[in-house]
Amino acid sequence: MGLIRTQEETGRHVRMLTHEIRSTLDRHTILKTTLVELGRTLALEECALWMPTRTGLELQLSYTLRQQNPVGHTINDWPELSTKRYALMVLMLPSDSARQWHVHELELVEVVADQVAVALSHAAILEESRRARDQLMEQNVALDLARREAETAIRARNDFLAVMNHEMRTPMHAIIALSSLLQETELTPEQRLMVETILKSSNLLATLINDVLDLSRLEDGSLQLDIATFNLHSVFIEVHDLIKPVASVKKLSVTLNLAADLPVYAVGDEKRLMQTILNVVGNAVKFSKEGSISITVFVAKSESLRDFRAADFFPVQSDDHFYLRVQVKDSGSGINPQDIPKLFTKFAQTESLATRNSGGSGLGLAICKRFVNLMEGHIWIESEGLGKGCTATFIVKLGISRAIK
Ligand code: ADP
Repeated sequence: MGLIRTQEETGRHVRMLTHEIRSTLDRHTILKTTLVELGRTLALEECALWMPTRTGLELQLSYTLRQQNPVGHTINDWPELSTKRYALMVLMLPSDSARQWHVHELELVEVVADQVAVALSHAAILEESRRARDQLMEQNVALDLARREAETAIRARNDFLAVMNHEMRTPMHAIIALSSLLQETELTPEQRLMVETILKSSNLLATLINDVLDLSRLEDGSLQLDIATFNLHSVFIEVHDLIKPVASVKKLSVTLNLAADLPVYAVGDEKRLMQTILNVVGNAVKFSKEGSISITVFVAKSESLRDFRAADFFPVQSDDHFYLRVQVKDSGSGINPQDIPKLFTKFAQTESLATRNSGGSGLGLAICKRFVNLMEGHIWIESEGLGKGCTATFIVKLGISRAIK
C-alpha cells in the first residue's frame, strides 16, 4: 500500500513539475522553476545547476536555489565535456538530517531531468526562430529604407528633368523662332550665313535636349509607351515625305516598299515607332553621299523571326499581335564590323570621317534600341565594311487592331 501511494505521489509531483516547467518556453524561467520546484518537492537544502559555457569546453555554475547570482565557478576538466553537451544538476539534502535518497525520489529526479531537456530543446528552437525573425525584420527595415531613398532619388531626378525640360525648351524655341523671323528680313550675305548657322546649331541643340531627356526617362523606367490604334501605312508614307527633300538635295533615291499583307491599322506607340524609323532612315541619308536607300516593311513570319542574329530575342506568336519588320538599306559609308557592337551604347560614334562630319550626338541608336526593347523587339545593324553600305533592321511587336482591319 505504502509503495503504491508513493508511486502515485511521485506521478503527481512529476505532472505538477512538468506543468510548471513547460508553462514557459524561456530558458531562464525553465531552469529557475526546475530548481525551485524540485527544492520544494524534495525538501532540499540546496540545488545547483552547472551549465556548459558558450564554448562548450567548461561547465559554469549558473543557477542555485539560495544564491541570487552565482558567479565565477567553473569546471573545465570534466570527463566527456568536449564530446557531449550536457548540464549538471547537484541536489543536496539538509546536512543535519539523516535522510537518505529514496528510489522513487531518484526516479522523480530522472523524469524531471528528461522533461527539462525536452523543454530546453523546444526553447532553443524558439530562440533560434525568434532570432531569425528579428534578423528578417531588421533586413526588412533596411530594405524599406533603401527603397524609400531610391524612390526619393528618382522623384528628385524626375522633378529636375521636368523643370529642365521646360526651362531649356522655352529659350530654345524662342531662339529658333526669332532666328527664323530674322532670316526673312533683309540681310547682308555675311549676316544671312550667321543667322543660318545660329538656326542650324539651335535645331541641333533642341534635338540633343529632347534626346537626353528621352534617354533619362527611358533609363529610370519612367517612360511608358503610349498605346493606341494608328494608321501604320501613314507612318511610313510620312517618314518618306519628310526624308525626300533632304535626300533629293544629296541626289539620293529613296524607295519605300510596303508588303501587300501589311495591316493598315495597328495598335502601338505611333510616335516612338516613327521616331525609331526616322532615326534609322535619317542615318542612312546622313551617312550616304550617293546612291540609293530602300525601306522595306513587312510582317515577320515565324520562319523569318528565327533566322536573324539575335540570341537574346524570343518572339512569341499569338492571335492578337504581329511582328513588324523594317529594313533600311543604304549604299553609304558603311561601318567597320568591329565597331558595330558599340553603336547602340550612348554617345557611340565610329571614327570615320563621315561620322565626324555628321554633327550627330551618338544618342539616336541608343534611344532606338530602348524604344524597340519597350516594344518587345530587336534592332541590329549589318555592314560588310567601310564604303560598302549598311543595313539596319528592327522588329517590333504591334497589336492587331480588332475594330478596323
Ligand atoms: P548619331 O547621332 O551620331 O548619328 P546614332 O546613335 O544614330 O548617332 O549612330 C551612331 C553611329 O553609328 C553614327 O555616328 C555612325 O558612326 C554609325 N552609323 C549609324 N547608322 C549608320 C549608317 N547607316 N551608315 C554608317 N554609319 C552609321
